[in-house]
Amino acid sequence: MTKYIFVTGGVTSSLGKGLTASSLGRLLKCRGLRVTIQKLDPYINVDPGTMNPFEHGEVFVTDDGGETDLDLGHYERFIDENLSQDSNATTGSIYQTVLAAERRGVFLGRTVQVIPHITDEIKRRITRLASDEVDVVITEVGGTVGDIEILPFLEAIRQFRKDVGRENVCYVHVTLVPYLGPSGEQKTKPTQHSVTELRSRGIQPDAIVCRSDGPIPESLKVKISNLCDVPLRGVVNAIDARHLYEIPLVLHDEGLDDEVCRILGLAGQTDLSAWEALVARIDASVRPVRVGVIGKYVSLPDAYLSVAEALHHAGYEHGARVGIDWIQAEDVEGLLAEGRLRDLDAVVIPGGFGERGIEGKVAAAGYARDHGVPCLGLCLGMQVMTIEFARNAAGLAGANSSEFDASSPHKVIDLMDTQRDVIELGGTMRLGVYPARLAAGSVVARCYGRELVYERHRHRYEFNPRYRGRLEAAGLVCSGVSPDDRLVEFVELADHPFWVGTQAHPEFKSRPDRPSPLFRALVGAALQRADGRRPRLLDLDDIAASPQPAG
Ligand code: GLN
Repeated sequence: MTKYIFVTGGVTSSLGKGLTASSLGRLLKCRGLRVTIQKLDPYINVDPGTMNPFEHGEVFVTDDGGETDLDLGHYERFIDENLSQDSNATTGSIYQTVLAAERRGVFLGRTVQVIPHITDEIKRRITRLASDEVDVVITEVGGTVGDIEILPFLEAIRQFRKDVGRENVCYVHVTLVPYLGPSGEQKTKPTQHSVTELRSRGIQPDAIVCRSDGPIPESLKVKISNLCDVPLRGVVNAIDARHLYEIPLVLHDEGLDDEVCRILGLAGQTDLSAWEALVARIDASVRPVRVGVIGKYVSLPDAYLSVAEALHHAGYEHGARVGIDWIQAEDVEGLLAEGRLRDLDAVVIPGGFGERGIEGKVAAAGYARDHGVPCLGLCLGMQVMTIEFARNAAGLAGANSSEFDASSPHKVIDLMDTQRDVIELGGTMRLGVYPARLAAGSVVARCYGRELVYERHRHRYEFNPRYRGRLEAAGLVCSGVSPDDRLVEFVELADHPFWVGTQAHPEFKSRPDRPSPLFRALVGAALQRADGRRPRLLDLDDIAASPQPAG
């Protein structure tokens, strides 16, 4: 019988519910349990695909092409499983399903209501993750208890315990215990109110995870236990950790996994040795290295969450602490003129949409090419590297992407003919995992240690195959292509320490203990540059290839 854990949050948003759910998932995996995890989002957008990165952060892409909440990235990185679009559902998508059924006449003329129709569909989204291969389904309910739009979700998870049996469900509530400077005290009242609100919806939490910046004394835990009617061992203090990957250890020390397993009747011992080794490696990662990320949404680094994490993962492998300089693309030309990018050991040009900042990204790609600065282009980043090369190395003045300049004389990045027929913004993205064949002996093939790789995509435009010959003649190496040779997926330069662009988003598959091969090579090259060795060619043997994440 599959067991179910529901994680809700109270008091304020951004409490780290997603990280709590992810960390709990990791702890259960360390007990040998098979875990899957999902997020239910109460907002009305059908998925986060069209949401503004400034507001919502990164759109995380799953293997099957789901455009999902960024918490799914944390889930994958912590529990080390590739999730699917079934792991994210929003109010909008739930209503869409129910309304489509209503139009088909499925409800036979009955009145369609929040209870039972919406709540039933929510429960279906939860149970569809259960299978013989899954011991525990963790469901994080987005939003905060007390929100209007969260009510159907709370009602659904309340009913759920009745449906599947008390012993198969555990409710974990995450709250905040703030420290009030003037009175010099930690306060439990917000937690009490939040639990009262949850109980008013019929849900009695089994465990309360209290976030705080300093340790909560036993006496306060006793108070929370008494007032919220949760056994003392279920009051868990999630004190601010030094870094994300320490959180599972903090929660384990507080006994969260023991308590959850006790409630669910799950036996077993937690073996944390591999995770502890990871945390020790992170703690020992001290060699400083500076990487500039040239982006459009840099005022909200969450917009590039997986890119930042992939850089850190690569750092851990090299014993390096990657410091990220978030650089606004529009500022690049000015910064270059003032020589202010000279201290960067490497540059990443991440994905993005729309024209703003493009010329700055092109300038950054050119600066990296001219000065031997290691550079990794991701999706849009690969497109601007191609544009830069076309203009400045292949003599194609005015080269551009048709996304930014429909009248460019050289559309080196363009829609494919098959796509043009159906172009309708919103509906034509290449989404999800695609294979690519890497050229034997190329930089990318040596990074991956294999010649067939699978990475995730999210874009509309492609490298224009009509220009492939001319760009290759000028020295651009198209080092990875689709198996049918139609699409260029990776580009690089032969005479540069590391100047690599990929049409994919390899950052989505990076794991803390298994960094994405391209990021690992980029940081390796950055360290060589930081060490002042500045070799002409990247010494790939220094950066042993490790297997690509499965899938
Ligand atoms: N805007 C570009 C395209 O649609 C790149 C997208 C991206 O970087 N994810 O092709």
